[in-house]
Amino acid sequence: MNHLPPARRSRVLHRSSRTLPPRAIGGHGAWLVEEGGREVLDASGGAAVSCLGHQHPRVVAAVQRQAGQLCYAHTSFFTTEAAEALAEELVGHEPGGLAQAYVVSGGSEAVEAALKLARQYFVETGEPQRSRIIARRQSYHGNTLGALAAGGNAWRRAPYAPLLSDAFSHVSPAFAYREQRPEEDEAAFTARLAAELEAEFQRLGPRTVAAFIAEPVVGATAGCVPAPAGYFRAVREICDRHGALLILDEVMSGMGRTGTLHAWEQEGIAPDLQAIAKGLGGGYQPIGAVLVSGRIVDAVERGSGAFQHGHTYLAHAVACAAALEVQRVIREERLLDTVVAMGERLERRLVERFGNHHHVGDIRGRGLFRAIELVADRGGKTPFDPAHRLHARIKAEAFARGLACYPGGGTIDGQRGDHVLLAPPYIVRPVEIDLIVDRLGEAV
Ligand code: PMP
Repeated sequence: MNHLPPARRSRVLHRSSRTLPPRAIGGHGAWLVEEGGREVLDASGGAAVSCLGHQHPRVVAAVQRQAGQLCYAHTSFFTTEAAEALAEELVGHEPGGLAQAYVVSGGSEAVEAALKLARQYFVETGEPQRSRIIARRQSYHGNTLGALAAGGNAWRRAPYAPLLSDAFSHVSPAFAYREQRPEEDEAAFTARLAAELEAEFQRLGPRTVAAFIAEPVVGATAGCVPAPAGYFRAVREICDRHGALLILDEVMSGMGRTGTLHAWEQEGIAPDLQAIAKGLGGGYQPIGAVLVSGRIVDAVERGSGAFQHGHTYLAHAVACAAALEVQRVIREERLLDTVVAMGERLERRLVERFGNHHHVGDIRGRGLFRAIELVADRGGKTPFDPAHRLHARIKAEAFARGLACYPGGGTIDGQRGDHVLLAPPYIVRPVEIDLIVDRLGEAV
C-alpha cells in the first residue's frame, strides 16, 4: 500500500476538518487501531454505524464469499440471491405492513427515494396536487439536495438555499428539554405539538400535503431526542385524517439502535415509508433502504408498474450480503437484548457521573443511543457561547484519551446547544461501557 506522508495526504485527500486525522489501520470489536498501534474505543460507531463493531468475523467472511462469487449485476437485468435474501429478512414478515425493500447505497439516497415514492404514490392515485412535505426543525435527513431541504437545520441549509425546493416546511422538533414549558406536563406538551402540526396542515391546505417526515429519535442535530409519549400516535392520526403519508427516517435510530429493531415499535404506530441505513450494513458496505408499505406497493403496481427512480448501485450484491449477515448476527445472537441491557448500564453510569454536573443539563436517549447536553448554566439551560466550540473541544479531549465519541452543536430557531452523542456497538462489553463514561467524564 502507498504510505503517503502527512503533507501529501492533506493535499490529495478530502478531509472533514482543517486538521488531518490520524490514519486508522485496523479494528476489532469496539476498538479502532491507529497507525503506531494506539487503540481508540469507538463509542459512537462513527455516527451510529458500526453496530457489530469492527471486523466481525461472520460479516467479513460473508463479504469475502459474495465478492468471490459475484460483485455486481444491474437490477434492470438481474436479481441476486443476496438481494432477495436481504429483502426477505427485512420485510418477509411485513413488519407494520411494510412489504417491500428498495435497497440503495446510503441514508441520503434512502430519504430521497422515500420522498419521491411518497410523491409518486399520489401521482399514481390521482391526487397530483399533493406535493408539500412537512418536516421538523432540528432534524437531519442527509446532505443531498432533497434530503437537505427536508432537514431542519437552518445553518446547514443556508449556503445552498437557492438550490433547495420550497416544497418543504418545518414544525417543532418535539424537543422536551428545550421546548416543554414549565407549566406543561407531557400530555399537554404532546397536545400542543399535535395542534401545531394540525395548524400547519391547515395553513398549507390539507389536500396539498403528501407526507410528514420525522426521525423517531432525533439523532445528530440535537443528540438522541425521543419524542414525548403519544406524539407519534397523534402524528399518525393527523396524517391519516388528512390522507397524507408518514415517512420515518430511521437511518440513525433504526435497526436495533434504540433496543427494538425499528424505533417505531416503541411508539405503537408504523410508517408508510421508512428510511434505514447505518445499522443496516454496520459499516461493512455502503447500503441503505426504503421499506415501503403494501398500500404504496399495490398503488404503484396498479399504476405505472415501477418506481420511476433508479441508481446504478441499487441492491449491490456485496452490500446486500454484508447487510444480510449483519442482520442475521443481530437476530441469532439476540443482540437487541444486549442493546437494552448495555443501554441501561450506559444510562445508569451517565447519571452517576453527570447527574449532578453543573454543566450537564440533560441525559437522554434510548438503548445504545444516548446523549448528554452541555449547558453554561444548568438552572437556566443556557447554552454555551457557540464561539467556544465546546463540542469540538470535547471531541478533541476525548480523542486524546482514546475515546471516539460524536459531539455536536445543534440549533433550534437560531439557538445553539452542545451535546455529546454515544452510540457504541451492540457487542460492547460492560467494562467498555464503564471506560466510555470514565473517559468522557475526564474530557468534559
Ligand atoms: N438521516 C439521518 C437521520 C441521518 O442521521 C443521516 C446520516 N447522519 C442521514 C439521513 C444521511 O445518511 P448518509 O450520510 O448515509 O447519506
